[in-house]
Amino acid sequence: MGRFQGAKAIEDLGEGFYDPVRPADFNLVGVRYFDSDLSNSVGLNLTVDQVVSHFLRFEPLPGSLSQPLALRYHGHQFRHYNPDIGDGRGFLFAQYKAGGRLLDLGTKGSGTTPYSRRGDGRLTLLGGVREVLAANYLKSMGVNTSRAFALIETDEALVRHDEPSPTRAAVLTRLSHSHIRFGTFQRQAFFGKQDGLERLSAYCQRHFYPDTSTPEDMFDRVVTASADTVASWMAAGFVHGVMNTDNMNITGESFDYGPYRFLPTLDPKYTAAYFDHGGLYAFGRQPEAMSWNLAQLAQSLSLICEDAPLIGSLNDFAPRYQSALNHHVFRRLGIAPKDRETDTEFVRELFIYLQESQVPWPEFWHDWQGGAARMPKDQIGTYDAAFAKRLEPFEVTGERPQTDRPESLLYEDIGEIWQPIAESDDWSAFEQKNVSLMAKA
Ligand code: AMP
Ligand code: MG
Repeated sequence: MGRFQGAKAIEDLGEGFYDPVRPADFNLVGVRYFDSDLSNSVGLNLTVDQVVSHFLRFEPLPGSLSQPLALRYHGHQFRHYNPDIGDGRGFLFAQYKAGGRLLDLGTKGSGTTPYSRRGDGRLTLLGGVREVLAANYLKSMGVNTSRAFALIETDEALVRHDEPSPTRAAVLTRLSHSHIRFGTFQRQAFFGKQDGLERLSAYCQRHFYPDTSTPEDMFDRVVTASADTVASWMAAGFVHGVMNTDNMNITGESFDYGPYRFLPTLDPKYTAAYFDHGGLYAFGRQPEAMSWNLAQLAQSLSLICEDAPLIGSLNDFAPRYQSALNHHVFRRLGIAPKDRETDTEFVRELFIYLQESQVPWPEFWHDWQGGAARMPKDQIGTYDAAFAKRLEPFEVTGERPQTDRPESLLYEDIGEIWQPIAESDDWSAFEQKNVSLMAKA
């Protein structure tokens, strides 16, 4: 994708959007993950030694930021406005241009910042392992996701109440087109800063939505991108877990995979985060949560925009979500769409069937990939005959999977990958899983 070209676009935002920070002083235990194909494809071409010098020792990349930045933002957390957050353990480390587009390299677990509050600014190794797996699995299913770039274990011991402690530590580097969140806009609006909102919108338009000319147009595009992302989660059986507005990227790229889960079977109430007591971010409530988040972004933008176009875009969320859901379901099944009405009805029936039958989610998508025509006869019996008939009219576009076993990343799967790492520092299951996921991407 062309040559590496360092950038510092974020500096155009000027005062009030970030604070320069100093990374912690880490000792290397090992580079546990490095996506060299990704590094090469965006023109970085890093060696493993360079990965350590840039992402553990934080030596600046040529032409990019001279010092890492903690970004300032606010956010609604479980619908409560929190003006007391910001990058508490993550930095924007570098920016660069590749293929004409701006890319950010962000870190997680790299040290404390003015926004760490009582936190240690660190990431557990298990947390890092989980994020790498989620990003690779989601990518393999066509989700617009941040990418895992590198995971480096450090020699620190961390104490967490949700992991057996002391627990191992790591620094994760992720790659995405932006680290500007809905909460970045909310913070400007909170302080009544119209000029800040204008600068921020101009930055996002220029770098992420270059064919838009107003913040209203940009918002319309954010609605489409966000509807597409949440629809792709629903087709992937993904529960993000913490859909707070500070975790919503303005580009629509999904990111920040903490206490996520993938569905074992379709249950709309399936919840990922143990602290989500009310099930606010349960599987079936994710589209509504995204729509609510977009309304908060619209609220912030209303300081510099006319209301009518913002409301118009918000009101169009549901039909855009449905179109995107149809698209992702048909893509996963490897069948060709017909018309909107037929497709929507089919998708509705499919979700009812998955819920009522409780057939295992990963197996279902694996078995039916390539439509009814390619389904081996001896497997059809596992499924409802009436449902199988519903698939018949659709033309097959996809290939049957090469493997017998479905790809899955259930809670137990992650346990099986983590256990050998925890017990004997055996990384082979983790490595194999990533190779297998990347082969499908
Ligand atoms: P999250 O729910 O992971 O998106 O995090 C919400 C906020 O808490 C963000 O501002 C994080 O930077 C901050 N945070 C989470 N864990 C830590 C930690 N260990 N140290 C410092 N800040 C943290
Ligand atoms: Mg976050």
